[in-house]
Amino acid sequence: MSLKIDSVLIHGGRDGDETTGAVNVPIYQTSTYKQDGLGETRGWEYSRTGNPTRDALEKLIADLEQGEYGFAFASGLAAINTVLSLFKSGDKLIVSDNIYGGTFRILDNVFKNFGITYEIVNTSDVSLIEKAIDDSVKAVYVESPANPLLTVTDIAAVAEVAHKYNKLLIVDNTFLTPYLQRPLTLGADIVIHSGTKYLGGHSDTVSGLAVVKDKELADRLYYLQNAIGGVLAPWDSFLMIRGIKTLGVRMDRHVANAGKIAEWLEQSGYVSKVYYPGLKSDPGYEVQKKQADGAGAMISFVLDEKYDYRKFFKSLKLITLAESLGGVESLVCHPASMTHAAIPADIRKKVGIVDELIRFSVGIEDADDLIGDLKQAIEASAKEVK
Ligand SMILES: *Cc1c(COP(=O)(O)O)cnc(C)c1O
Repeated sequence: MSLKIDSVLIHGGRDGDETTGAVNVPIYQTSTYKQDGLGETRGWEYSRTGNPTRDALEKLIADLEQGEYGFAFASGLAAINTVLSLFKSGDKLIVSDNIYGGTFRILDNVFKNFGITYEIVNTSDVSLIEKAIDDSVKAVYVESPANPLLTVTDIAAVAEVAHKYNKLLIVDNTFLTPYLQRPLTLGADIVIHSGTKYLGGHSDTVSGLAVVKDKELADRLYYLQNAIGGVLAPWDSFLMIRGIKTLGVRMDRHVANAGKIAEWLEQSGYVSKVYYPGLKSDPGYEVQKKQADGAGAMISFVLDEKYDYRKFFKSLKLITLAESLGGVESLVCHPASMTHAAIPADIRKKVGIVDELIRFSVGIEDADDLIGDLKQAIEASAKEVK
């Protein structure tokens, strides 16, 4: 029976425990497994190589992304590290010009030292990708909407160009989750997640996931997952499965709140710019509508110069200043000094990550309470007129 995503969230992967009938997959807190004789295992050998709780999560994320093979890691960056390990010295990646700061850091300070290079391209313009492709390029790596400016990339169009030249397309789907966007169905080869964000959803677990369709690619990733060893623990795998069950209801509220707040911000007079692909005024609006079932709940805005952004962060009462995103509680951050500090100042400025830019992960509190808090904090941060 083919199920809709709201049912897959609850019953996908391994639906409960076959042996006891427990409706939840047990936490198999074990490092190793008894072998009945030499070479006679019951399918499990050692928990880096495989663990039933992790396996349940891996099957669940594969079902949700409409892929075939899922992989769970100790963090989003452990997932990214493992995926980037598919490449070798001399290979080059084309990367979106605004991506998660940690992704930039691992490319620039870790993989570059191993001879794997990258070229930053505005991937929202597919012709620029085609121009940048040469023999050394092995993959295109995009986030859509991207971090922190919510730039939308047309995933199907990029997949077409990438495949025309036999390159892989890797998509970081953290901001939308499979509830709103399924990149494998749009032609991507590998989907990556920081499960720490919306999938876990409660700001209590760090995790990463990857999903592919292709068997050969899956075999290589499985080999690397085991060889590198950055796997997700059984307890954290359980927490992820638990979080994913409510993803649909959470995302519906997240998106409704974000839409309301983005519209309020746009006409408030407090900000000089709002980045949110759910706004008709946003350049990514049409592509977002075509490729996803919603615009997500990440909003970025540039505070008008009449207001002091440092004071704004200090004046918030309900919304928390913190790294991370995607939890039930609303969080704001300052990309220039926090999440994107690893990106050199000149590149930051060039792409629009200015000092007055504020990134808002809209939670599932009451939207009017959130608007009230933004309003009082912005007003409290008005610069004195001399
Ligand atoms: C947080 C994040 C990551 C990194 O994930 P961790 O779980 O923090 O290691 C990667 N990509 C995006 C878009 C993120 O938001």
